[in-house]
Amino acid sequence: MSVLEKLSSKDAIALEEEFGAHNYHPLPVVLNRGEGVFVWDVEGKKYYDFLSAYSAVNQGHCHPKIVNAMVQQAQTLTLTSRAFYNDMLGRFEKYASETFGFDKFLPMNTGAEAVETAIKICRKWAYEKKGVPENKAEIVVCENNFHGRTTTIISFSNDPVARKNFGPYPEGFIKIEYDNLSALEQALKTNKNVAGFLVEPIQGEAGVFVPSEGYLLKAKELCKKYNVLFIADEVQTGIARTGKLLATCGNCSCPDRHCSGTPEVKPDILILGKALSGGAYPISGVLANDVIMEVIRPGSHGSTFGGNPVAAAVGIAALEVVKEEGLAENAHQLGELFREELNKFIPTCSIVKSVRGKGLLNAILINDTEESSTAWDICLALRDNGLLAKPTHGNIIRFAPPLVMNRQQLLDCVDIITKTLEEFDK
Ligand SMILES: *Cc1c(COP(=O)(O)O)cnc(C)c1O
Repeated sequence: MSVLEKLSSKDAIALEEEFGAHNYHPLPVVLNRGEGVFVWDVEGKKYYDFLSAYSAVNQGHCHPKIVNAMVQQAQTLTLTSRAFYNDMLGRFEKYASETFGFDKFLPMNTGAEAVETAIKICRKWAYEKKGVPENKAEIVVCENNFHGRTTTIISFSNDPVARKNFGPYPEGFIKIEYDNLSALEQALKTNKNVAGFLVEPIQGEAGVFVPSEGYLLKAKELCKKYNVLFIADEVQTGIARTGKLLATCGNCSCPDRHCSGTPEVKPDILILGKALSGGAYPISGVLANDVIMEVIRPGSHGSTFGGNPVAAAVGIAALEVVKEEGLAENAHQLGELFREELNKFIPTCSIVKSVRGKGLLNAILINDTEESSTAWDICLALRDNGLLAKPTHGNIIRFAPPLVMNRQQLLDCVDIITKTLEEFDK
């Protein structure tokens, strides 16, 4: 068999099974093309993508503007490393800083690297600015968090599969309950050496868990009171996914009207990834103001590929698309419509308990146990009916389509989802 011979779904899955490490359990569907809100499998069947590569493809598959920026730059200059300057990185840094309202941007590649970067900046700030004694800095994190897969990050995960047998685990993390302000205040009050509070504005992998109204604002105020950095991991919630440019939207230059009434929850350190490239390229980064970012000096942090010219060109185009196409506003409106339609359906059906989320980051809770295979089975049936989604936990299905969807397509998807759920209603 030649390497480029056309593969059936069965062949492609068999190849991965035999030659790939088994670190994922994908839904059995083999895709080879994407455009906007749609993907196609190798047999030519068309699907609505309701995962968007975990919210990386907010701008839609193969967005022509992003692809064009990537191709143009790839034909010109791809990598210089940071040993030399290139004429693209500064433009991206300026554009990202101005877009999100920070003094400076530090580019990396993957979300986990950006989280690691934020942890390093936060600790260094604690030693050099807050006066925490050497090696004593602590970072407060939340239960059921997901921040990536490095050894440090999984050390403060409480997913046993992600964590077990990867020790020894680094120290310096205090875990508290999510959406619990008194637990946060207690942690900040009793530990003098806390450097930062690392939090997801909505817990995505945990099952799209939206905290109580006002939680983030009050958490930020507590951080300020105890001189602790408020670090928002917006790798999944950022870039218009939740109906605003950022879920913590503060005084960024967000053009969306839903931002104006939002209280100031501007993080001290903002972590972005995924849709920062629209899914075309691995781009992540950390934003902070000078008083914090200035602790990073030559040699203290880096990445060969971080901020390369292709990433810079793609990053600018991807953010431009979000603004030009009003994706935050669209996510807000379609999200309201989605929950409204599902809330009409839920009382008529015993298989779904509830729908929750913000913007186009939503999930349904299946009326079965965490250990059951019902959510997985529903995802298989959704696939057969032309829509791709994936369970987050045993009984939760996340729905996160590309934000370039239109109203008619969303209603079409609601139809597929409700008809499929009815098949499971006993
Ligand atoms: C996906 C994700 C990450 C990790 O990003 P990778 O690019 O997979 O390393 C970190 N934090 C959150 C909230 C995420 O959703």
